[in-house]
Amino acid sequence: MNGPVQPLRQIVLKVHSRCDLACDHCYVYQHQDQGWRGQPMVMSAETVAWTGHRIAEHAKAHALDEVRVILHGGEPLLAGVAHLRATAQALRAALRGVCALDLRIHTNGVRLDDAFLRMFAEQDIKVGVSVDGDRSANDRHRRFADGRGSYDQVLAAIGRLRARPYRHLYAGLLCTIDVANDPLAVYESLLALGPPQIEFLLPHATWDHPPQRSREAEYADWLIAIYDHWSATGQPVRIRLFDSIVATSLGGSSLTEAIGLTPSDLVVVETDGTYEQADSLKTAFDGAPFTGLDIIRHDLDEVARHPALIARQQGLAGLCDTCRACPVVTSCGGGLYAHRYRSGTAFANPSVYCADLLKLVTHVRNRLAAQPVSGHAPGSAHAIPGPDFEALAAGFGGASAIGHLIDSQRSLRRALVAAVYEEAAASPALTGPQATAFTQAWGLLTDIDQGHPMAVDTVLGHPFVRVWGARCLARLSGSASGNPEPHPVSADLGHLAGIAAATAIRAGVPARITVPLREGAAHLPTLGRFTAGESGAPAVMVEVADDFFTLASGTGRWMVPATAAEAGARSGDPIPGCWQPVRSLTAPGLSVSLEDTDPYRHCYDWPPAERADDEELAHWERLFNQAWALIQEQYAAYADGLAAGLTTIMPMSPGPADRDTSATARHAFGAVGAARPADHASLALLLLHEFQHVKLGAILDLYDLLDQGDQRLFKVRWRPDPRPLPGILQGTYAHIAVVDFWRERRHTASGPAAAVADRQFAYWREGTAEAIDILTGSGSLTPLGQRFVDGMCTSLAPWLDEPVRALGSLS
Ligand code: SF4
Repeated sequence: MNGPVQPLRQIVLKVHSRCDLACDHCYVYQHQDQGWRGQPMVMSAETVAWTGHRIAEHAKAHALDEVRVILHGGEPLLAGVAHLRATAQALRAALRGVCALDLRIHTNGVRLDDAFLRMFAEQDIKVGVSVDGDRSANDRHRRFADGRGSYDQVLAAIGRLRARPYRHLYAGLLCTIDVANDPLAVYESLLALGPPQIEFLLPHATWDHPPQRSREAEYADWLIAIYDHWSATGQPVRIRLFDSIVATSLGGSSLTEAIGLTPSDLVVVETDGTYEQADSLKTAFDGAPFTGLDIIRHDLDEVARHPALIARQQGLAGLCDTCRACPVVTSCGGGLYAHRYRSGTAFANPSVYCADLLKLVTHVRNRLAAQPVSGHAPGSAHAIPGPDFEALAAGFGGASAIGHLIDSQRSLRRALVAAVYEEAAASPALTGPQATAFTQAWGLLTDIDQGHPMAVDTVLGHPFVRVWGARCLARLSGSASGNPEPHPVSADLGHLAGIAAATAIRAGVPARITVPLREGAAHLPTLGRFTAGESGAPAVMVEVADDFFTLASGTGRWMVPATAAEAGARSGDPIPGCWQPVRSLTAPGLSVSLEDTDPYRHCYDWPPAERADDEELAHWERLFNQAWALIQEQYAAYADGLAAGLTTIMPMSPGPADRDTSATARHAFGAVGAARPADHASLALLLLHEFQHVKLGAILDLYDLLDQGDQRLFKVRWRPDPRPLPGILQGTYAHIAVVDFWRERRHTASGPAAAVADRQFAYWREGTAEAIDILTGSGSLTPLGQRFVDGMCTSLAPWLDEPVRALGSLS
């Protein structure tokens, strides 16, 4: 039979058919199919070679970018280090130049020692470990033939896997559910092992051999207890089952064959080279996974055309009438194929877990629908989906990930400004005409928001508006630090009029509003500042018309075309000396503000520069264009994120001689402060480094990654003084980009510059690894914090193995 086939992308390779445990819930040995008895113990090199050949021809024929091969058993580690290494090498050799190979192994962990881990690191094999919870839960089933539990060995193995330098290989944990175990104890014990992912597996069962349960939907209740706790604690780990229900409920694809309508793309190659269907079918009846095909005589297209595999690729059409009419079918998909089996009707049934799946999916969907917009939940403004969180944790994050940070900052700023208004309206610090002006400004802002919310968000999104809001709120609530404040809080509150005026100008909404002067200037965030000279007037009247606005102060009146309000105007300003627009630095694909007017830019540890003259602006333009070109060309992994989130460069006063000076401010999302460096490569490094702080600051607005009560100080390479853990987390995240910068620079620079890059790379990667060890060893990371640090480690670990050409002092 010919015709188009659904390509197979996941190959389960049974490298060994026996096991060193005798788990009583194992579907390979304890269920209906006993095919293992006729299998050779170990897959031969010839069968491996044939498998590599078959996968390569299939990948070529279907132009696959990547295939996943899972080394499985029995217990695959029984095959030994040498055999597994040879298997990995043969597969990689077969697929070289054809497609990427995502190579994994699923093990019971009992034999997972350093020799295996070294080889896995060498061959880039990710490791998933089966463990069913805490000691009592795990050892209820996962025992040796003599009855001893396996928990201690497995825990030690996971400990080795989590340690440097193997952490990046840690793929996750697989846990088979037993409702006799306490769900939260199981979940917490797994979470404590720091996995990047947990997969909860329903024990294999059919209508002929139903699962053990004391009441209906008992498995749903067990999983719901975990789901609710997991959600309430910020979803600190990916759980494939829950992520799949959420994804499918929002119209996406399932991440697991256990649920959903995604066509199966998996085939098993047994140790003797025969193709079989998914292992789970062993639970149905003897011979259920059998296809009659083998690796030597049949290619993978023939396997994909096998009626049994096609039956599992039919989506909704492949389900029974009951499932097709079910309200949760798009998420459940009839459950795992094997679980539908009943003698007589074969697989044309709902899952034997139907009541559980219906209840679980309905519960998750109800929770999703009920979540407030401000909750830490998928799809809300304050949530980062798992893949984007992983990308950020690894040190990167493209437009999608940064978009979530921007969305959350938008909500945060709206809430902040509203809180400032409410606190100020109730405060005795604001009285008389100032109170009237403040209320009018708030009224104008909220009116404009009705028809022009984007204009409001643009102005509130200016980095220093949040600095202003946070400062107002702190002073209104009496929590400001002991530093003497140069202005009464009413002066700060007057800035709301400037915010409202700038919003009206951006929206093109006719308006008339008085903006108080601060040190002789009226500030319109995102647009610029008006300096009133010697008039002595306390305020300026801003009047907004369609395409211009006027500024009136004392006896003077100036008209500014709306087009001149924004960046670009220079010495030819329509009103030289009075209106100073915020100017832009523009390069292909990125335009940012060079913000040298805003009064709240004094929020960094280093003072701002004076307003740039034309010559200084030209220097910035040249450097910025060259730096951005360098980032796009050589640091592309950061470019999308920067393009999405970097809005502002705040020029700082020159720093100490021969030291580049740059900074970020915790509340100024989107802005990087920098003294103009000597060359474009230095600016590129400053932008990469500081934007890491920008990202992490926004992540910390959403999630607690550390125990805030931990006051201990630790020594790190990048500071002479001991640092608290939050500072170390910030520094470590920033240095992921620094290490990456020098790592790439080693290959693009030449001569002495390349040697410098080598030394910098070697020095900072060690320093960053040390800092990661401090964070991990502190015991103060939250589970989500551990996941974040694991993400950094995933990026850093392979860099630690890269050879360097020269080592030596950095001085
Ligand atoms: S909940 Fe039951 S009826 Fe609905 S799709 Fe799943 S197995 Fe079928």
